[in-house]
Amino acid sequence: TQIMSRGLPKQKPIEGVKQVIVVASGKGGVGKSTTAVNLALALAANDSSKTIGLLDADVYGPSVPKMMNLKGSPELSQNNQMRPLLNYGIACMSMGFLIEESAPVVWRGLMVMSAIEKLLRQVDWGQLDYLVVDMPPGTGDVQLSVSQNIPISGAVIVSTPQDIALMDAHKGAEMFRKVRVPVLGLIQNMSVFQCPKCKHKTHIFGADGAKKLAQTLDLDVLGDIPLHLSIREASDTGQPVVFSQPESDEARAYLRIAAEVV
Ligand code: ADP
Repeated sequence: TQIMSRGLPKQKPIEGVKQVIVVASGKGGVGKSTTAVNLALALAANDSSKTIGLLDADVYGPSVPKMMNLKGSPELSQNNQMRPLLNYGIACMSMGFLIEESAPVVWRGLMVMSAIEKLLRQVDWGQLDYLVVDMPPGTGDVQLSVSQNIPISGAVIVSTPQDIALMDAHKGAEMFRKVRVPVLGLIQNMSVFQCPKCKHKTHIFGADGAKKLAQTLDLDVLGDIPLHLSIREASDTGQPVVFSQPESDEARAYLRIAAEVV
């Protein structure tokens, strides 16, 4: 109600970008960045005629440089806009390109806001069909500012099936609804682990918490990503599964989600 009573500021599209899809989570560490990266790659893999960008708006803990195997600083274009770095056909921009990897992110308030403003407004994306935005976890000022400043086609919310993660995912969904961003659905991550030796399946964080939350919020579950060693290894080595193992079940799960969101 507080948000609504302040009224919605006027949104300005990002130049050259047709549709923005944000990937959000209530809690950190639930696989939001992994999902954002693989979703961007899956959108490109599903339709090679589309141009895809990936904006790492997780200013406190940018993971896109590592996951997309990118390093370096962006060059400036003639009109002083930063040029995204490119890998696997995806144009990427991240706070991680602008600060030293080891530098502690001690910015607060306005400094984080001005960083977000730069990432939203001072990047020369060229022409993009979809820009996937990896949001910071939670429902604070940064999330609100991104949601209010640019037109967003839809938000996907990533959660593990654990109560504590789901409670925060619930808050995330409510925030988007308040600022009238369509929530496309929930992605349940790390739901099942299958032992590679005996094939026994274990639901480490619970089986279908996201499904129950989806029912409560009248949302769809867009997909269910297993807890799988290759997803973690692929992310850590900068070779996301959708790129490096496109035929695997894990990659297929992301490809199906990508087909659902557009
Ligand atoms: P967040 O962006 O929510 O903080 P990350 O995407 O950085 O989370 O994921 C946290 C860690 O969990 C990373 O090491 C990542 O590789 C790993 N991870 C994410 N999803 C999976 C999965 N489905 N299976 C295995 N490891 C995963």
